[in-house]
Amino acid sequence: MQLPDYQTIRLSDYPTIRLPDYPTMRLTYDLPLHEIETLLQSWGEPAFRASQIWQGLYQHFYHSPDQFTNLPTSLRARLSENLQFTALSPISQLISRDHKTVKTLFKLHDGQAIESVLMRYAARNSQPATRNSQSPTRTTLCISTQVGCAMGCVFCATGQMGFKRNLSSGEIVAQVMYYARALQTSEFFENSEVCKVTNIVVMGMGEPFHNYENTMAAIDRLNDPQGYNFGARRFTISTVGLVPAIRRFAREKRQVNLAISLHAADDALRSSMLPVNKKYPIDELLAACRDYAAATGRRVTFEWALIREVNDTPEQARLLAKRLKGLLCHVNVIPLNPTTGYSGQATTRQRAEAFRDVLTQAGIPCTIRLRRGIDIQAGCGQLIGLVSGGNIG
Ligand code: SAH
Ligand code: SF4
Repeated sequence: MQLPDYQTIRLSDYPTIRLPDYPTMRLTYDLPLHEIETLLQSWGEPAFRASQIWQGLYQHFYHSPDQFTNLPTSLRARLSENLQFTALSPISQLISRDHKTVKTLFKLHDGQAIESVLMRYAARNSQPATRNSQSPTRTTLCISTQVGCAMGCVFCATGQMGFKRNLSSGEIVAQVMYYARALQTSEFFENSEVCKVTNIVVMGMGEPFHNYENTMAAIDRLNDPQGYNFGARRFTISTVGLVPAIRRFAREKRQVNLAISLHAADDALRSSMLPVNKKYPIDELLAACRDYAAATGRRVTFEWALIREVNDTPEQARLLAKRLKGLLCHVNVIPLNPTTGYSGQATTRQRAEAFRDVLTQAGIPCTIRLRRGIDIQAGCGQLIGLVSGGNIG
């Protein structure tokens, strides 16, 4: 199939790595620091060795025991006998023609596949670049939390694929480390300086609140000040609306941003698009969002994929404005990215603007997002669909 806006780039720097058929050993990224400490202690190693390993993994992005040249050879050998350092093997990479979006399809040890997407944006409120300062940009990474998804949203390519399995916390972390490493030397972005990931959105394949423990463990691991030190406020988690998990998330008072995939303002329409709505209808979902905003003082983002003549009507916009009144929130609308398993079409620019105007006139902040990177295929498992239909084992 043709990919009009993308070209495949060679993975010469990151050749396909042979992964074991089954995870016979634990993945290093699955271990919190205290578990590495306990392991090393059981081997009779001094405590500072655990910190050296932690820093090697999360500050230098080492992905093979050989790279830990500050460790004795005997310890390196023991590490490679007991731990699996590679979780993902990139099998295909696409870079957009404007050199602002990179999508990678990864193979996991059991032959399943996931995708992650890196996007570069000009930063909001950016100052003009001077000779000595590069123009500031945001580099956002979109990561997956499951292989497939059990939620079955009708317009979503991942939903159409069904649920295969949860990712482990280490497999979630490994996506970030892959890009952190690649960006140290990267030629991803034309003429670009070496750059860092500045934001992480948990909006790739899968429903993060259906894999709550592993997703939060991954965020905590990436957040560790002695490791990757990625600020909690620079993460955004998007959920289809699993109410008990939203309430748990609110209780934990995390600094991570919360986005809710709403897509419809009445239960009949939402249930026809997002089956989960039959279990957690809009009233219950919005009550949880109000409690979250009250408990944390944080703004909720609502996502809305505009589908022509389905949910892009002035009636839906008016009903949405009514339901969100008084809630600390923001609405992001994007034109639907059509998928093979769903007949709905993207809205038009004019209808998107009319929808936004109804909301802003009612005092609800609303932004029309560009259809690029995450706005087109990142959240939807479409890359996998193009390459193979799911399992690339
Ligand atoms: N499961 C989570 C996160 C992954 S999906 C969730 O649903 O929120 C990330 C976002 O992409 C969600 O808002 C989802 O509704 C949206 N999305 C899925 N398929 C899409 C499509 N074909 N066009 C536009 N947005 C889509
Ligand atoms: Fe799952 Fe999100 Fe896709 Fe719905 S939109 S099927 S919850 S990944």
